[in-house]
Amino acid sequence: MQFRSDIFWKSARGCCPDCGAKVRGAADRTGYFARLWDTPAACSSCGLVLRRKEGFFLGAIVWNYGLTAFGVLPLLLLAYGLELIGHDWLVRSAVLAIFLVPPFIHALSWRLWVGTYYAFLPDQLPSGGRRLDD
Ligand SMILES: [Zn+2]
Repeated sequence: MQFRSDIFWKSARGCCPDCGAKVRGAADRTGYFARLWDTPAACSSCGLVLRRKEGFFLGAIVWNYGLTAFGVLPLLLLAYGLELIGHDWLVRSAVLAIFLVPPFIHALSWRLWVGTYYAFLPDQLPSGGRRLDD
């Protein structure tokens, strides 16, 4: 198994991991906040199904949790360690972060998960021979 970083970065940038076209949501909304949590079901250009069978979303949850727990919360602990914020604000900020950060990185988590999946399993891409109706 070889990790294909080109596929991962293509997906992380919001492009289809197979054809490279910019992936837009089903509603094709252009609002900034809509793009944060609008996860398209398929690539509108090549038809690659981005939301696969039930349970596929678990990878996106892992990315979301990981980015929140190991990306945002350590910053708050660092701010506390540097005495930029006190104990009360640390707790308030942490509680606020665990409720606000995950919805805002929802689409990013999906892109990272789809990129991770296809980077490890590039033969699952339609260009690798997989059927589109999976
Ligand atoms: Zn595509």
